Amino acid sequence: MEVIIAEHAGFCFGVKRAVKMAFTAAESKEKSVHTLGPLIHNPQVVGRLSEQGVEKVDSLTEINDGIVILRSHGVASPQVAIDAKSKGLTVIDATCPFVTNAQRYAKLLVDEGYLVIMVGDRHHPETLSVLGHAGGDILVTEDFDEIQTWLNRFANKKRVGVISQTTQTFQKFSDVVSLCLKLCEEVKVFNTICYATEERQDEAEKIAREVQSMVVVGGKNSANTTHLADICRQEGIPVYHIETAGEIKNSWFNGIQRTGVTAGASTPDWIIKEVVEQLQKVQ
Ligand code: SF4
Repeated sequence: MEVIIAEHAGFCFGVKRAVKMAFTAAESKEKSVHTLGPLIHNPQVVGRLSEQGVEKVDSLTEINDGIVILRSHGVASPQVAIDAKSKGLTVIDATCPFVTNAQRYAKLLVDEGYLVIMVGDRHHPETLSVLGHAGGDILVTEDFDEIQTWLNRFANKKRVGVISQTTQTFQKFSDVVSLCLKLCEEVKVFNTICYATEERQDEAEKIAREVQSMVVVGGKNSANTTHLADICRQEGIPVYHIETAGEIKNSWFNGIQRTGVTAGASTPDWIIKEVVEQLQKVQ
């Protein structure tokens, strides 16, 4: 079986940066190192960090001293860093600059009095961090009916600001912007999808058109990996979202001559390599 591997599969700029910061902090050995929530959405990387002594905690109350790393998706509000410092902790901010950008634009729109829509998943840590930093009433959704119902609550001449979760598909984001243009008098848009996401999504779509099945590698809790799998499914081929090579079943590839492989932005190279090697053994 021929295996086509996406050039841009795996760690993006923001994840590379966060993981490097965490391993460097762990090397010091002088202080205990913690991450507030998982550093990135990949259980295998979080496991390796834990082996190096980087402990995941869910709240500052669990840490008494040492270093706290703020994860790539950002933290619930600016107050978290203030509270950590006032406890005497050393704060390393690994928030991805693209997430910081989304936080800033959300705050700007709230401060300018726009009704703000963020296209994304309202339960995702990144959207929660954007809401916490913007400090206003923002609708986070991917649902058109919900947007219409929400906008209908407000009087005419609606001024709406639209941003996106960094890992959203461009298609969904532009569909929401088009809807707002139909319903509102003024629409201010900041495209906060990060380039790594767009690059991976465009490439995944292109490969999915040229193969008979796709394997998408990454955390089951990773939004960008899940979006990659959804994009590939739109090409009408079987798509397998796996975390490790151990999940691969030879029976998936009966009668398949060409399969594609891509991976989310939080998937490390070593896992992609194991997956590709396993696929190359399939007859
Ligand atoms: S996917 Fe984009 S926003 Fe998320 S960590 Fe990577 S570069 Fe940053």
